[in-house]
Amino acid sequence: MNEYLKKVLEETESKNCSEKEYIQAVKEVLTTLEPVIEAHDDYEKIALLERMVEPERIITFRVPWVDDNGQVQVNRGFRVQFSSLIGPYKGGLRFHPSVNQSIMKFLAFEQIFKNALTGLPIGGGKGGSDFDPKGKSDNEIMRFCQSFMTELYRHIGQDVDVPAGDIGVGAREIGYLFGQYKRIRNAYEGGVLTGKDISYGGSLARKEATGYGLIFFMREMLKAHKNCICGKIVTISGSGNVAIYACEKAQEYGAKVVAMSDSNGCIYDKNGIDLDLIKQIKEVERGRIKEYLRVHKDAEYIENNGEDSPIWTIKTDIALPCATQNEVSLISAKKLVENGVLAIGEGANMPCTAEATEYFLATNVLVAPAKAANAGGVATSAIEMSQNSMRFYYTFEEVEEKLDRIMVNIFNSCKNAAEKYGCSGNYVAGANIAAFQKLAKAMRSQGIV
Ligand code: NDP
Repeated sequence: MNEYLKKVLEETESKNCSEKEYIQAVKEVLTTLEPVIEAHDDYEKIALLERMVEPERIITFRVPWVDDNGQVQVNRGFRVQFSSLIGPYKGGLRFHPSVNQSIMKFLAFEQIFKNALTGLPIGGGKGGSDFDPKGKSDNEIMRFCQSFMTELYRHIGQDVDVPAGDIGVGAREIGYLFGQYKRIRNAYEGGVLTGKDISYGGSLARKEATGYGLIFFMREMLKAHKNCICGKIVTISGSGNVAIYACEKAQEYGAKVVAMSDSNGCIYDKNGIDLDLIKQIKEVERGRIKEYLRVHKDAEYIENNGEDSPIWTIKTDIALPCATQNEVSLISAKKLVENGVLAIGEGANMPCTAEATEYFLATNVLVAPAKAANAGGVATSAIEMSQNSMRFYYTFEEVEEKLDRIMVNIFNSCKNAAEKYGCSGNYVAGANIAAFQKLAKAMRSQGIV
């Protein structure tokens, strides 16, 4: 490996030795940049990589709140403001018990590259809390969100840092967060959060954007390899925002989605998933996926037991991991390949372990990398921000058309960068290189900051 890259990687590992997800994300990017770094021997003098892997700011804070029994609970809040190189910090908030600094930093780091790929003026950030929304009442969720925002508000703003949703944070939570922000600031700054409900400044098609964007990217990738989505068997992990709308668009394109999951297990319906029922269970009832069997008694439910999700043992042409990081292990990757998988589309952030990605690439499975393939959500958030500034709304069709165009451009950037640097067909490297070049140029222009 190039000496400079090696040095930065070793320093990152020793400085952040307890943060395994963060190290994994940095390693994945740096190891693909070798040809670009080789061509620019001036980067080391200006510590370009060292600055790129060090967050501008990390904020952690206490979030006290009162549960329905009158008991005081305390959670930890985070906001990682990683890079403001090309715009205000932008990235979601995650509420999940697994949240820690390593996960926040890996997500924020990935976000910088993803946002650069969209071609829109947005920097990279991420935040959240180890709060678990599962099983909480609406009032508890509201009190938690209000307490979280009572600290976060001083660090964000429509030109400073613009959070959105992620795991455990949907339109309900964004509503409570926005209400509290507005109350504290005594000003209607619509662009301070995205993923808002349509009734007070949200964008049509934002809810659908990440899942739809993933399928648009997959369409382009398959097209470049003289293939298409129509008629393919698809499995999708998760049954949240990204998974549901990836399923909707894949079905619209003529694919047969046969399996979806949640953190307890997966359902397999050989007749094709009934998406209206999944929406009813997940978006309305906030229930568990196994309830699918109350209507479709001939479908199968396979409970999780152990590290590897059973969904990846199901035979499929296209696998779309849309739940969480590192959900596709090397064991799962081998099973998918053995069953003849053609393409992987990463809807979740870093859902494949480094070993799994390597195995897919080595066995000529097409990989649509998360930074590029799930960028449709944040791109549409930027479209929401611009509508808020203009005090104007686009129609659903207008937003979807813009999203489609952005995803086509992202795919072409990944493809062209991969071809230019001798790794044609490797969209993982292509995405990293294309984003890095834009960021490096901006970093050089802005001096030592
Ligand atoms: P949701 O909270 O809407 O849904 C998450 C889904 O994944 C649920 O089905 C959940 O199951 C499952 N899941 C979460 N954690 C785990 C886990 N540890 N093990 C197994 N299953 C799990 O989140 P989103 O759909 O918004 O996000 C999914 C992924 O997509 C995340 O990686 C996120 O960072 C990424 N992403 C999201 C974007 C967006 O616009 N929302 C944009 C870009 C990326 P259960 O209900 O049982 O917990």
